[in-house]
Amino acid sequence: MSGNVEIMLSENALKVLEKRYFAKDEMGVVRENSEEMFRRIANAIASVNPQPSEREFLAEEYYRFMAGLDFLPNSPTIMNAGRPLGQLSACFVLPIGDSMPEIFDTVKATALIHQTGGGTGFSFSRLRPKGAVVRSTGGQASGPVSFMKVINASTDAIKQGGTRRGANMGILRVDHPDILEFIDCKMDLTQVTNFNISVAITDVFMKAVKENTDYDLISPNNGEVAGSLSARMVFDRIAHNAWANGEPGLFFIDTANRANPTPSKWTYEATNPCGEQVLGPYESCNLGSINLEKHLVRNTKGQYSVDWEKLTHSVYLAVRFLDNVVDANRFPIPELEEVNKGTRRIGLGIMGFARLLMYLEIPYDSEEGLEMAESIMSHIQEVAERTSQELAATQGPFPYFEGIGTKKRNSHLLTIAPTGTISMIADTSSGCEPEFSIIWYKNVMDGTHLPYTLDYFTEVAQREGFWSEELPSLIVKNHGSCRGIPQVPEKWQMVFATAHDISAPWHVRMQGAFQKYIDAAVSKTINMSQEATIEDVEKSYLLAYDLGCKGITVYRDGSRSNQVLNLGTGS
Ligand code: ADP
Repeated sequence: MSGNVEIMLSENALKVLEKRYFAKDEMGVVRENSEEMFRRIANAIASVNPQPSEREFLAEEYYRFMAGLDFLPNSPTIMNAGRPLGQLSACFVLPIGDSMPEIFDTVKATALIHQTGGGTGFSFSRLRPKGAVVRSTGGQASGPVSFMKVINASTDAIKQGGTRRGANMGILRVDHPDILEFIDCKMDLTQVTNFNISVAITDVFMKAVKENTDYDLISPNNGEVAGSLSARMVFDRIAHNAWANGEPGLFFIDTANRANPTPSKWTYEATNPCGEQVLGPYESCNLGSINLEKHLVRNTKGQYSVDWEKLTHSVYLAVRFLDNVVDANRFPIPELEEVNKGTRRIGLGIMGFARLLMYLEIPYDSEEGLEMAESIMSHIQEVAERTSQELAATQGPFPYFEGIGTKKRNSHLLTIAPTGTISMIADTSSGCEPEFSIIWYKNVMDGTHLPYTLDYFTEVAQREGFWSEELPSLIVKNHGSCRGIPQVPEKWQMVFATAHDISAPWHVRMQGAFQKYIDAAVSKTINMSQEATIEDVEKSYLLAYDLGCKGITVYRDGSRSNQVLNLGTGS
């Protein structure tokens, strides 16, 4: 097989790669091109394949897979495969025990993980509340929020070392006595800036919300009831803060634990920073995403449809790739290695879903859009499970297998990651999100603005005869959207949906549609218009819970000044 795949990287993709991903020498001069980078990754991952006879063949297949932008692994694999650090996973959860040595061991492990480009999530729920007695010193405990600040400061220090900015998730159970302080801890936007925060919501709490009753607060150190709060009051406060600035999110902890295949090892308490991976203590996950925009076929009439055959092969290859990543991975502390080899968890997902819908001429916010999400994800699920079962037949199931579910090589297979960076490299829409705008600028890393325009929209507009020189500026003035612009036919207004056009319930339903076929979780932002109310936020929470989502994050347009994604202003 020849390795001559033409690597079609956009200018923006090359900029991202040059800045962070290509190998550099001590002087900071780039010493790698994109072909060499994909070869480095492919060779490193194939070299650990248990059948030596397959290694050369797989190295070539993996290379073509990535170089063709059909699939990309998560950033740490791109940066570190075949290099001295060798840490390949994006997602980690570390335990926070209720003692100084345990807390500071975790601070150290966090720093080492951030150095390698991984993100860390923590549950602070085991820490005794603020003001509780510390027996050894006779003093008073400073509480979960104070320890979040310690990790936050340490994350800042690592950032100054020039690596990718560290990301954390802080979680507290809704029945922890310090819950109100936690819910408010990011209202001051200068605090705990390196954390996303989520409240772990229990079924008991949701029942109390629905029935408008009080619920108990429980001290984690002695299991005693420490008081009670009105569930509605707490629910309103969470919704208010999320409405005001996007945080906290919700993590449906009991929903997550109902799907735990290793309950004798742990109960889930936390997720990674973007919420798509619910992980046990010291558990990690390496992710990879199939680019759906590259899984389309065009017939002679120019109509597009899904290339199911290619998708089947891509899923098969991606599962093999990610399973090999488990063996190629190098961890900074031994606990991580032990647990990762125990679950062999992988996170295969997608990107380019919104683009795929546009080519198929299906609006994101339509029943057909939901059906397409389900068709694609159920197909991916079927092939991924079959592949992992085949691997289990020859190499055995994951060592922590407890007989729950089918015998697979990997405890978890599927997820939907944000794909923040890799979708830029692949030049497609991120994860399962709609396009944010048809014309926009992305504020990346140190304030550089990268322009993006959606070529396919221009192509359709020209072909269908509704293009004009003024159209781009009309779209910019219209919030980056073509909906409501009279010169754009209604059909195309619907097809070229943007995040702002889509009402919150459709966002939630789309998340729910994907979650049905996914064993881990889905990273998704429920975008709301500036006019959305706190009640709209609450409705989305209830819908997400009822649909079986594992969490939810809402974002109301304009509620935070320093948005990552900025709409174009025509400059
Ligand atoms: P990428 O596109 O770079 O591979 P994603 O945007 O899909 O990454 O994020 C996947 C996961 O990687 C996140 O949920 C988080 O766990 C981790 N992650 C993302 N950004 C960072 C960061 N800046 N620092 C550390 N970890 C991160």
